[in-house]
Amino acid sequence: AIEIHNATKSYGGRTVLKGVDLTLAAGTVTVILGPSGSGKSTLLRAINHLEKLDEGYVALGGELIGVTVRGDRLKERRERDILRQRSRIGFVFQNFNLFPHLTVLENVVEAPVAQGVRAADARSRALALLTRVGLADKASAYPRQLSGGQQQRVAIARALALDPDVLLFDEPTSALDPELVGEVLQVIRTLAGSGKTLVVVTHEIGFAREVADHVVFLDEGVLLEQGPPAEVLAAPRHPRTRDFLDKVL
Ligand code: ATP
Ligand code: MG
Repeated sequence: AIEIHNATKSYGGRTVLKGVDLTLAAGTVTVILGPSGSGKSTLLRAINHLEKLDEGYVALGGELIGVTVRGDRLKERRERDILRQRSRIGFVFQNFNLFPHLTVLENVVEAPVAQGVRAADARSRALALLTRVGLADKASAYPRQLSGGQQQRVAIARALALDPDVLLFDEPTSALDPELVGEVLQVIRTLAGSGKTLVVVTHEIGFAREVADHVVFLDEGVLLEQGPPAEVLAAPRHPRTRDFLDKVL
């Protein structure tokens, strides 16, 4: 499980995460909803230790790294521990973030090879992952030669290359033309129930309804509401959740 306790973060005096408590059960799909600026990306980045919390902590599988709890500074663990934990977490960004000068296959192979996996093993695993996202025939293409949906599917294959326990998606379809959204959501859907813990920031409510085990609504850095989709999406309790859903649906 991922346990987020009292996650608190400010930028220049503005508090953008205000004591968020959230547990993400292993092997489940959590969808995070919320208006622009509500802190969704900051929360995802905190899970991956790309963002250091001012207060609170994120524990992955019971392991705490580099935390401050209620002002008592626990001894900072080494950067190496963060890197090790991060290698168990895949991250898929809105804008794909592929390496433009590397082929599709090279993009997927890069992290495992950097981690010391034998090139031949990394390559065969990468090809299997590209097959899984329907892009085996694009292995030697460059990112610029692919559609946005194809690039995002490569980014998902790349995020899977280290066989992470956790996959974080930050608005994975919001940079895509509408007709390309479905193919990317379909790939994410196939990962649900694979044993990996998925956290997806998205405004795709249909996807949340079908695929999520747990839905979270963030508003101005506060976790206002959470629960199964049948509750949060079909019968939101908080007026701000209702407002938000009316706008995106
Ligand atoms: P969106 O839906 O637009 O992606 P979000 O919910 O992901 O929004 P965040 O990106 O987490 O929101 O940002 C929360 C708030 O923190 C915003 O007001 C943003 O301007 C601010 N913020 C985020 N990162 C930084 C940063 N590195 N420096 C200063 N302010 C930041
Ligand atoms: Mg964001």
